[in-house]
Amino acid sequence: RTGRRPLIAGNWKMHLTHLEAIGLVQKVVFSLKPAELEAAEVVVVPPFTALRSVQTLVAGDKLAIGYGAQDVSAQDSGAYTGEVSGAMLSALACTYAVVGHSERRAYHAETDDVVGSKVRAALRHGLVPIVCVGEGLEVRKAGEHVAHCTAQLDAALEGLTAEQVAGDPAAGGVVVAYEPVWAIGTGEVATPEDAQEVCGALRARLAERFGPETAAVVRILYGGSVKAANTAGILAGPDVDGALVGGASLDADEFAQICRSAA
Ligand code: PEP
Repeated sequence: RTGRRPLIAGNWKMHLTHLEAIGLVQKVVFSLKPAELEAAEVVVVPPFTALRSVQTLVAGDKLAIGYGAQDVSAQDSGAYTGEVSGAMLSALACTYAVVGHSERRAYHAETDDVVGSKVRAALRHGLVPIVCVGEGLEVRKAGEHVAHCTAQLDAALEGLTAEQVAGDPAAGGVVVAYEPVWAIGTGEVATPEDAQEVCGALRARLAERFGPETAAVVRILYGGSVKAANTAGILAGPDVDGALVGGASLDADEFAQICRSAA
């Protein structure tokens, strides 16, 4: 994984008020050593309602932790009740926005086209999209998982240049997360070989479309029932650059241990 700093992102989903958010961020940061926070990039992805509190805490105390949003609107502004724009998120100094999470695809009818629009919206506003792809159980049983995930990746990155995908070294362009739907919230983690197979195929696809230099700098995460006990194994794959963690990111000790295993 030469040159790619591991990234551990905790997707809190619809959990924790803004007050609870502060407590969790403090516990995570203070249980990690500065060297650990340096070696791995640690990011929390709270609900929108907690972003302002997290921003104030992180900026005020100069904490070495990043944060992002769980979604971003494809639109820049206007009559879109309930939506949150990329401009609003960058005004809160968010670094990341998760785009195309399988729960958004499943429960909010987000198509590949919508996901592509959201990725472009994130980039327009200086956010790093964490683009989620992943197959359901039927697709995996049919042996179509690699084709399914690379097709989702193609759609998500439609219209982007290699420069946009790679980003600049300080800010980062796009992050990809391979999240097999059958592993999310189920306790059934992919094997290290399964994770590497798809992450490797996604990197090969990035190389085909955007060139090997771009593919070499994009971080590709695995997500799906990651816990402290399985992190090292999953991250051993040469194309697995970190983890998107759901349930286990709500437990400060467990999440800190995951970050430590990645450092
Ligand atoms: C997720 O929601 O991105 C996720 C990976 O969830 P979990 O870790 O709970 O499977």
